[in-house]
Amino acid sequence: MYDAKQQGKNRIAIADTQLTEAIAEDAHMRIKAAFERGEIELFFQPVLSLATNEIISFEALARWRHPEKGILGPEHFIDTIIHSSMSLPFGRWLIDQAGQMASMLRRRGCHALIGVNLSQDQIETGAFIEALAATRQRYDLSAPFLIAEVLESTHFHDLDLACSLLNEARNQRAHIALDDFGSGISSTTYASQLPLHTIKIDRSAVKHLDTRPEQRLFISGIVAMGHAMQREVLAEGIETEAQLSSIRELGCDMAQGYLIGKPMPLDELHQSYLSETASPRYPLRKL
Ligand code: C2E
Ligand code: MG
Ligand code: MG
Ligand code: MG
Repeated sequence: MYDAKQQGKNRIAIADTQLTEAIAEDAHMRIKAAFERGEIELFFQPVLSLATNEIISFEALARWRHPEKGILGPEHFIDTIIHSSMSLPFGRWLIDQAGQMASMLRRRGCHALIGVNLSQDQIETGAFIEALAATRQRYDLSAPFLIAEVLESTHFHDLDLACSLLNEARNQRAHIALDDFGSGISSTTYASQLPLHTIKIDRSAVKHLDTRPEQRLFISGIVAMGHAMQREVLAEGIETEAQLSSIRELGCDMAQGYLIGKPMPLDELHQSYLSETASPRYPLRKL
């Protein structure tokens, strides 16, 4: 039976899908053009060693320096990049930038690793291994310089393959970190099976550390598990002195968060850590 009402709805649904696709296509083109024009850049957030009270690494976080809108965070563009043909070129660029940064720091007599966030396809295609090898050669980096961060929410198609690729990266002196551990629905599969150096506890687990006793137990449990497996444990999202002293007490190895330092552009990093007038609260680790 002909149902005009239903057909009208179907037409609207098709028009909706087409509109959504057109908007996605438009966003993709704009972001691609921005990347090609060099408007995507990296900010760097310091990571503190709780053993030595030195800054031992920086996490590279993507920003879009938009000509009209100013600095835009990754929520505006990163999904579009990693779910499109830009993903592998972007991943290569990311690792190259990390190498450039590490080599600049080394020339200044400092020794800090650079963390990059890798997407599933950058890992599973092996593209990041090639980029790692090329970057080590380009900047003459035989010592470790890269931390490859893998999101806990990554859905690897083949865990054995992911493990062997990450092991290959370890052979090339990269450190591997499991990012956002304890956010969403966690399982211990990745924490126990991936060849990790570091487990990064998600900010959501740290947030209520000082008011909810169960969060302390949760973190001390992760520390015990991590240490039993020779992994270091980093707490993300440290914003208060109270949180910092709690995670020290609980045995975390590293801290990252606004209290230690916000993600900053390269010129600010120079001013805060490298210039003659710099007097950072925590010094950069020396070579
Ligand atoms: P992430 O890798 O977990 O990075 C940490 C995020 O927490 C960053 O947000 C950082 O600015 C924020 N953060 C750090 N300390 C604090 C704190 O004390 N308080 C609060 N409220 N926030 C803090 P950002 O830069 O917006 O990045 C969000 C996510 O976007 C990252 O989470 C990462 O998953 C993704 N991302 C960023 N850059 C890249 C990239 O180059 N490639 C990929 N694949 N993902 C990226
Ligand atoms: Mg990260
Ligand atoms: Mg994280
Ligand atoms: Mg995150």
